[in-house]
Amino acid sequence: MLAELSSALIAEVERAAKLLGAKQHICILTGAGISAESGIPTFRDKQTGLWENYGAEDLATPEAFTRDPKLVWSWYQWRRRVVADKKPNPAHDALAQWQYHTQSSGQKVTLITQNVDDLHEQAGSTVTHLHGHLWRNRCSQCEIPYQNKSKGSYSSADSMDYSEALISCPHCDGYIRPDIVWFGEALPVEAWETAEEAAANCEVFISIGTSSLVYPAAGLAQLAKENGAEIIEINTNPTPNTIVDITLAEKAGMVMPLLIQRITAL
Ligand code: NAD
Ligand code: ZN
Repeated sequence: MLAELSSALIAEVERAAKLLGAKQHICILTGAGISAESGIPTFRDKQTGLWENYGAEDLATPEAFTRDPKLVWSWYQWRRRVVADKKPNPAHDALAQWQYHTQSSGQKVTLITQNVDDLHEQAGSTVTHLHGHLWRNRCSQCEIPYQNKSKGSYSSADSMDYSEALISCPHCDGYIRPDIVWFGEALPVEAWETAEEAAANCEVFISIGTSSLVYPAAGLAQLAKENGAEIIEINTNPTPNTIVDITLAEKAGMVMPLLIQRITAL
């Protein structure tokens, strides 16, 4: 794996590891890019097959659901089928390993994700979801969580019924929708407070696989910077962001294992 990375990149990884090893409070924000190597398309990837004429921004909105609930529900059921068998990749595993390591090192590493998949959890991480959960449903009217199967849990691929037929809420007759934050909707209060607190108080902020276009999540790096943190970005196609101190322009699945190996060996 090392042979595939340039010496300049390895030097930057060493610099990032040294910085991270010397600090106590770290905040990490992950986006769709960290799950790309697991086979989950990002939002900027062209949609495939049936959905190639639709943009995610046209489907992931409350207005789209009001206009055509069947269309939006079918798209999510399709996305769920795409994601159902996907597994964490070395980037998720490395982060989980780092969190495990902090139990003895005393570092505080807060992991925040914009992703709605559960690959961080599958890898063994503790993570705060800013944009909801793909495996959860709730009523679009009364907001009561909807249990997918009578005996299944509320939130795993196993609990899903992948039918594209709309479901009516047993309490109010509203349509059941995915428990996901759509474009234009407010973020869950508790998750956002956790993220803001971690970003404002961290010494290093790491952004992994996010285009930093979707606010308010994209503002977290700025908040960290304003409070004196240094910023590390890991992205195959780095954002033109002037606040970044160290850029690791490589696949997260390549860089993260090396970075975490260096940090935990310090
Ligand atoms: P995005 O699609 O806007 O951007 C993905 C970023 O990842 C890009 O900057 C790209 O250059 C980078 N990238 C791609 N492959 C990478 C790799 N292997 N390693 C490192 N970087 C890589 O995603 P976003 O910034 O998370 O924002 C879009 C919204 O889409 C989010 O709100 C999120 O909820 C949602 N979304 C989630 C999932 C998921 O849960 N897996 C998938 C698609 C979209
Ligand atoms: Zn209801």
